[in-house]
Amino acid sequence: MQTISQGKSPIRSQEDFLVFGSPCIEIAEIKEVVASMTSGWLGTGPKVARFEQDFSNYKKADYAVAVNSCTAAIHLSILAAGIKPGDEVITTPLTFCATINAILHAGGKPVLADIDPVTMNINPEQIASKITDKTKVILPVHFAGRPCDMDRICALVADHDLKLIEDCAHAIETEYKGRQAGTFGDFGSFSFYVTKNITTGEGGMILTSQKSAAARIKTLALHGMSKDAWKRFGDDGYKHYYVEECGYKYNMMDLQAAIGIHQLAKVKQYWLKREAIWQRYIEALSDLPISLPASPEENTQHGYHLFTILVDEAKTGISRDNFLNAMTAENIGLGVHYLSIPEHPYYQKTFGWKPEDYPHAMRIGRQTVSLPLSPKLTDKDVEDVILAVKQILG
Ligand SMILES: *Cc1c(COP(=O)(O)O)cnc(C)c1O
Repeated sequence: MQTISQGKSPIRSQEDFLVFGSPCIEIAEIKEVVASMTSGWLGTGPKVARFEQDFSNYKKADYAVAVNSCTAAIHLSILAAGIKPGDEVITTPLTFCATINAILHAGGKPVLADIDPVTMNINPEQIASKITDKTKVILPVHFAGRPCDMDRICALVADHDLKLIEDCAHAIETEYKGRQAGTFGDFGSFSFYVTKNITTGEGGMILTSQKSAAARIKTLALHGMSKDAWKRFGDDGYKHYYVEECGYKYNMMDLQAAIGIHQLAKVKQYWLKREAIWQRYIEALSDLPISLPASPEENTQHGYHLFTILVDEAKTGISRDNFLNAMTAENIGLGVHYLSIPEHPYYQKTFGWKPEDYPHAMRIGRQTVSLPLSPKLTDKDVEDVILAVKQILG
């Protein structure tokens, strides 16, 4: 037995370092990838088509287009929304840089609206105060898997004749009043990056109810070519392709979809596991001088993507960054979601943004810590995390 009280041996050994966001990859995924490799069809093909079908069925959406990242999904969604240079896209300062970069890649001008400090989601009142003649798109992020206030956001979209693009990178399972996240507006963008709720290694998906937009996105995702490359090599004769516009190289491979098909089949099972871990953390950590995530709102389904605690040095006696270091010394990996967007030098230089102008996102970005929440965690892993947090903060 390790004598934790002496603080000499870490709670976990170095060989047993708990990697944050480690995915659960099982035999079905492995077999399907091997089958793709054996078949010789590695690129975009029948497995991508099946994954799109399965995903649109699961989300009750009309059209799904698979791409190679959520960043690509957001980029193409903004292009398909018809953005022109200088058009403004309102989004949250508490997000991954990809949300902002995708707006920039599409030629839009990102405008930040501060968050609600309890839900950590974009605040509709702040959005309203940022709407101008140039505003074209509202791009909310369902932070940590908690749905944004879609009634009020959809009302703003309708009142000002805007487009709505949901960043659903955390929100595969998320629902709001019985409706699926990613189906409220024009486009919903999803991520299958390794740490996300289901993974394809790298990957993304766009949902839309507009047939013509889905077709345009499919074209843009593959060089602007009129026909999917894989259709050209079918057994019904050679087909020419025609380049209709200058597109991108954003298509998903069958190798990735092979993983995704089986990950999606387990989406509920994984969600239930994360929900159980979430409940265990709430129960075990509620006596500590930290903030825990708010309970999910009524009539919503939380995606349980991140379990974020807030470490306020004034209450805990330890800074957030020293807490991160102390947990790492116990061989437990953590995440930070996120330093607010205006903390980054590029955006400061380019837009003159200051963290202080978005005070809620700034404070949360400086206090937040994400604990491990992967469905791969064993009961012992979860208890190790709890023990380490209590030891450092208790
Ligand atoms: C992960 C993430 C993205 C980007 O997803 P990729 O698939 O890695 O491109 C975008 N937005 C948010 C909120 C994310 O967490």
